[in-house]
Amino acid sequence: MYDYLIVGSGLTGAIFAREAMRHGKSVLVVDKRSHIGGNIYSQDINGIQVHTYGPHIFHTNTRRVWDYLNQFTEFNRFTNTPIANYKGEIYSLPFSMFTFNKIWGVITPDEARAKIEAQRREAGITEPRNLEEQAISLVGRDIYERLIKGYTEKQWGRPCSELPAFIIRRLPVRYTYDNNYFNALYQGVPVKGYTAMIEAMLEGVDVRLGCDYLAQRSELDGLAGKIIFTGQIDAYFGYELGTLEYRTLRFETEYLPDTSNFQGNAIVNYTDRDTPFTRCIEHRHFYPGLEVSGTVITREYSAEWQAGDEPYYPVNNERNNSMYEGYRKLAAERCPNVVFAGRLGGYKYYDMDVAALKALELTDEVFGK
Ligand code: FAD
Ligand code: UDP
Repeated sequence: MYDYLIVGSGLTGAIFAREAMRHGKSVLVVDKRSHIGGNIYSQDINGIQVHTYGPHIFHTNTRRVWDYLNQFTEFNRFTNTPIANYKGEIYSLPFSMFTFNKIWGVITPDEARAKIEAQRREAGITEPRNLEEQAISLVGRDIYERLIKGYTEKQWGRPCSELPAFIIRRLPVRYTYDNNYFNALYQGVPVKGYTAMIEAMLEGVDVRLGCDYLAQRSELDGLAGKIIFTGQIDAYFGYELGTLEYRTLRFETEYLPDTSNFQGNAIVNYTDRDTPFTRCIEHRHFYPGLEVSGTVITREYSAEWQAGDEPYYPVNNERNNSMYEGYRKLAAERCPNVVFAGRLGGYKYYDMDVAALKALELTDEVFGK
């Protein structure tokens, strides 16, 4: 018997497990995948740390989270400066003076503001109601058409006019020549990879891999009094209120032995509608100065989630958010011994630092600070 059964060995499950152990509790972690780490899992391919489930750059303003994770890993100083390739033209991301200069030839922040203001006025947007209106009012129509529309419609499989505005507010808009993708005090990737970080957190913890909780529920429920469930909340309830929508991804990874620099940057977004993938990652650039030959690239394709696929991104529209609230109610009524946590349990687009902070706050609640 264990005090806690933790379903999912991602960042959320691993933090809960570590803290439960620290408070003298016994835990069993199960994961249906064949490895620990959930979506931040990384693997070594010919000396290069490859982010198996898409590029992961850690960034945070939360000192507590930074200090916490630094107990388990050292981070390097990688700063994310992705670029966009629109029909063979290269633009700087996020939207900064470099981008405005390339698009309009403007040099000063005032010139850029004037261009954007004029395009916003022409579109007649006062209160943006969706992603399209939000994007045009933030950066103008030219940038929307070239760098946002095609990429977003590939990524989400829906017109920008039907997507929530908050998705695009994730990206900074800067009137400076600073192309750091994140406004964060702390940023980097683990020097030895994310998997090593999670391994350090799970040291001494019992872990069963290749174990789907939903397929072995009665046996596993008998092993612990309390459950932390970081999988899909709708799957837990057998989809009884309906199926929440997600976007899934397909990753095409290739090792190229004959070049050590394929695209000159860690992340290149293809923002036109015709290129079928959204972005191409060259993993070695997360480790500037890496001294190995060859390179590994991954092209990322986005698609609507179907049963059996990995659910990467929740689709937070009104239908899904209200269905999710229904599931929360079911959880409160029927499952007093289960906590639904993490990105899937919360059905929210959490970055790693938010997932980590939520997990730490959950442990504060359960074990005290
Ligand atoms: P997960 O990592 O999803 O872990 C859940 C685990 O539960 C999985 O291992 C799963 O196999 C397991 N599980 C589910 N159901 C069951 C079941 N029935 N039985 C057993 N096990 C089960 N964040 C950043 O801060 N920076 C980034 O650059 C960044 N890039 C991202 C890129 C992509 C493509 C994606 C999808 C996410 C990105 N994120 C990024 C977010 C980051 O991945 C999450 O914040 C983090 O992985 C959340 O951890 P989690 O433990 O909550 O969920
Ligand atoms: N986005 C875009 N063009 C880009 C990059 C991002 O239009 O070149 C939009 C897209 O809608 C995406 C959102 O901005 O979903 C947030 O981007 P982010 O890089 O945060 O996405 P993630 O890290 O989730 O892949």
